[in-house]
Amino acid sequence: MAEYPTRPLESWDKLKELRRGLFFNMWKAKEEGNPIVQGVIGSSTAIFAGIGEPILTGLGPNFGRISRDPKATIKCHEVTESKGFKTDICATARLSIGSLYSGTHSLSPTGEEFTPDFCFEILVCPHQPKANMIFRDYYDIPYFIVEVPRYSETPNEHHRKYYISQLQDAIDWMEKVFGKKYDEEKLVEATITEWETRVLWAKICMLVKTIPAPIDVTRLFMHTTPLMRMGAHNKVCKHMLEVLHAELEDRVKDGIAILATERFRLIHDGFAPFYYTGLYRLARKYDAVVLGGRMYFSSMGAYAVKEDGSWEVAKTPKERGIEIKTRDDALEALADMQLIYYPFSRIYTPVGNKDVVKVVEDWHADGAILHIDQGCRWTTTTIFGVRDALREKGIPTVTYQSNAYDPRYFNEAEFENRIDTFLENMGAKKAGATT
Ligand code: SF4
Repeated sequence: MAEYPTRPLESWDKLKELRRGLFFNMWKAKEEGNPIVQGVIGSSTAIFAGIGEPILTGLGPNFGRISRDPKATIKCHEVTESKGFKTDICATARLSIGSLYSGTHSLSPTGEEFTPDFCFEILVCPHQPKANMIFRDYYDIPYFIVEVPRYSETPNEHHRKYYISQLQDAIDWMEKVFGKKYDEEKLVEATITEWETRVLWAKICMLVKTIPAPIDVTRLFMHTTPLMRMGAHNKVCKHMLEVLHAELEDRVKDGIAILATERFRLIHDGFAPFYYTGLYRLARKYDAVVLGGRMYFSSMGAYAVKEDGSWEVAKTPKERGIEIKTRDDALEALADMQLIYYPFSRIYTPVGNKDVVKVVEDWHADGAILHIDQGCRWTTTTIFGVRDALREKGIPTVTYQSNAYDPRYFNEAEFENRIDTFLENMGAKKAGATT
C-alpha cells in the first residue's frame, strides 16, 4: 500500500527553544518582579495579568521532569508515604507532596530554591487543592481558591454569578497580597488573548481530524507546557499556536502525514502514564497513530458543545459581537469560557460519555484505549460509563489499569500485551505489514 508523504514539523525546533528558555527564565521571575503561582489553573489565567507576567508552576517547576523519570517519581512517592500519606489519595497530589518533602519541588538547576508567592487554584477536583494546603503551610504563603461550579448542561445564572464574584474577590485579594494596584487594562487585553489562544488550540485539534493526521498526540501535547507555565493569555503562547496552526494547515493542504504508514487511528481517553512513552512507539509498529483524546483536545481549547456531545470551535467574544472593555466585561468573558465553552469540565460527568463517542467518530478513529487510572479518583468514577457508551456504538475499546503518576502500578509487559491483542484484533500487523 502506498505511503503518505511526510516531513518533520518545521516549528518543532522553535518549540524546543521556547520550552528551554521558559525553564531557565522561570527561576528569574522573582528578580523581574513577576508573581510565581503554585497551583492548578486550567483556564481564566488572564486574571493574573493585572499584577504582572506570572509564572504558573502548576504542581511545581520540576514536576514535569520528575513525572517522566520513574526512579525520581518512586522516590517522591516513598517520601510522601513516609510522612503518613496513604496511596488512596490522588497520585498527582502524592507526587507533588513528595517532591516538596524531598527538596526537589522548587530546586533550580543551579541549586537555589525559590518560594512561590502564593497558591491559587481554579478548583475542578478537590484533591490537588487539598495538597496545596500543605504547600501553603510549608512555604507560609497565602492561598486563594476559586471554586468552579459543577458543570451544568443549561446556562445557570447562579453558577455564573458565583464564579464571577470569586474572580472579583481574587483580584482584590491579589492587590492586597502584592501591595500594588491591579491593572484592569491588562486584564482586558489578556482576556481577549486568552480567548484567541484557546480558539486557536481548538482549530489545531480540528486539523487532527484529517486523514492522514498532520500531527500526533506526543507532538501536540508538547505545546501545552508553555500554555501551562505562562497561561493561555500570554501573547507568546498565542504566537506559538499561530505558527503551529499555519504549519498544520499547510500540511493538511499538501497531504503531509505525521506517520507515513498511517492505517489505524486511535484515541486515548484519560492521560497516559507520563513515565512511559512506549505506547506511541508500539502503535507506530502497527501503522497506528495515537491522535489524542478529549482531555488532550479540551484542556487548552474553547469549543461550543452540541446536544449530541460533538464539539465545534467556539467563536471568540468579538466574533459573537461582544466587546470586552472593562473589568466586568473581562470577567463575564472568562466565566463564559469556563462554564460554557470548556468541555474539559464535562469529563467527570455522565454527559461526558457522549463527548468520547463523538471524539472517536469525528476524529475518524478506529478504536479507543481507555486508562483506568487508579491514581485519579475522579476519572476512574466515569471510565466504565465511557467504555459502555463506546461499546454500544460498536467502537473497539481496550482498557488497562495503571497510574499516570505512579510507575509502581504499571506493568509494561501486561500493557503491551493488551495493546498487541487489541490492534491485532482490529486487523493490524506488527512492523508495518498490514492486512
Ligand atoms: S482530577 Fe484526578 S489527578 Fe487531578 S487532582 Fe483530581 S484526582 Fe488528582
